Amino acid sequence: MTSRPLALDSLCARLNPWLKERLRTDAEALAKVAVDESGLPPGRAGAVVFPKNTAEVARIAAEASALGIAVVPRGAGTGKSGAAMPQNGELVVDLSQMNRLLALMPHDQYAVVEPGLITGDFHQAVAEVGYFYPPDPGSWESCTLGGNIATNAGGPRAVKYGVTQRYVWGLQIVTMRGDVLRFGRRSIKGVAGLDLTSLLVGSEGTLGIITEATLHIVPAPEAVETAWFSFADLFAASRAGEALFAAGLVPRMMELLDQAALDTVRKVAPFRIPEPAGAALLIEMDGSPARATADLERAAEIILAAGASDSALAKNEKEREAMRRTRRLVSSALKEAYPFKMSDDIAVPRSQMVPLLEQAKAAGASTAHLVCAYGHLGDGNLHMNLLARSAEERQHAGPLRHRIVELAVSLGGTISGEHGLGLTKRELLPLEQTTSVIALQRQIKQVFDPQGLLNPGKVWPDV
Ligand SMILES: Cc1cc2nc3c(=O)[nH]c(=O)nc-3n(C[C@H](O)[C@H](O)[C@H](O)COP(=O)(O)OP(=O)(O)OC[C@H]3O[C@@H](n4cnc5c(N)ncnc54)[C@H](O)[C@@H]3O)c2cc1C
Repeated sequence: MTSRPLALDSLCARLNPWLKERLRTDAEALAKVAVDESGLPPGRAGAVVFPKNTAEVARIAAEASALGIAVVPRGAGTGKSGAAMPQNGELVVDLSQMNRLLALMPHDQYAVVEPGLITGDFHQAVAEVGYFYPPDPGSWESCTLGGNIATNAGGPRAVKYGVTQRYVWGLQIVTMRGDVLRFGRRSIKGVAGLDLTSLLVGSEGTLGIITEATLHIVPAPEAVETAWFSFADLFAASRAGEALFAAGLVPRMMELLDQAALDTVRKVAPFRIPEPAGAALLIEMDGSPARATADLERAAEIILAAGASDSALAKNEKEREAMRRTRRLVSSALKEAYPFKMSDDIAVPRSQMVPLLEQAKAAGASTAHLVCAYGHLGDGNLHMNLLARSAEERQHAGPLRHRIVELAVSLGGTISGEHGLGLTKRELLPLEQTTSVIALQRQIKQVFDPQGLLNPGKVWPDV
């Protein structure tokens, strides 16, 4: 449903007396929330509000519902699929001011947080009591926990520790009717009723606005060891990764960078990337100091035997962070060099990674498009980028993008391993799911949001 400007004016008139400067309709505020990190052209917001607590969110939702105004929940706007972008003058509910850590219970292995808490700040708070919150999307310095939950974010450490869903024990949400619902658990076990917590995780702001979350935390590993391995090409790197798992080792991080990624990030990388470099693997092992060291030594033996040309071991935390940061900078370095690039986050079963890379690179070569592959090799989840310097090049790459996504599905994989569908991938959903499965999801959406006002136009294709 499209919002009507008159109704929006009425809504602003109702909200203004109590939200005051936390209700914004000026061009600067609207421009800021009209974009995310998808690279899509800006959308259009009608107004943006910054609630400070659940009661305010509930009142905003109820008032918007009564006037038929559509609402878009927003965290930090680092999403890569356009899921937080308003399209038709919606009211954006920006949760960034609800950013408190409400409880930290190491003995019970959970913490209670507000959705606007920055993921990196939460990591820090949990580390201070000797605990560990594993989900670590590359954007952890700026993204929010609410956004991570709504997208079921992954990250480099998912290969050993799993993605966000594994750590969400319970949620409090506000529905578009303004109802406040709490479900899930604070105990280690709990199976009462349907698992609504899991349903909300990854729902991309379409079912409810998350206003509080109970997150599982685990004891921190005592030691981490990090190493960088160079290869002649990405196929050799990918095979070496397979060899590690075949030997029974589980790294806590296995990130791949192909030649295009290395060439692009080299200029800004805090780690000096060894030459020549056709591809690289960043590997981490953790556990007790003896375990982490022994596992990394064994991993190095296996990887060098599998064809790595060179290895570099990080000697301290500063060097470790330089290697990790080099990997994290790939996304922004590519964006800078190829402003019109297209990026997907396909995932396949690990055993299908080499066929995927071979066929995707061959498809790129046959159409003269530069395909850059980097990311979470250990999860079978790669950022497949079609590099483009102009809108024309981007448009030409469209059919190739479709081919690569289809390829991932045909290899038993998925169109999105971690970023979600938002606006950029919703039309691709029928490649992966049947009409009946998509219809079932629309029915669930209808139950939570009968008027279709919460984050409309996202996730599901137009019918
Ligand atoms: C450099 C870079 C690296 C990245 N690396 C990774 C990575 O390794 N793994 C990964 O998974 N992603 C990654 N991302 C993508 C992005 O950071 C994640 O999707 C992140 O979880 C989004 O969080 P956010 O707070 O920015 O959410 P936003 O972008 O603001 O919103 C994302 C979605 O969540 C919804 N939402 C936000 N808050 C709420 C709430 N309180 N209630 C209901 N819905 C809500 C929005 O409506 C939208 O649908 C990366 C992005 C960048 C720019």
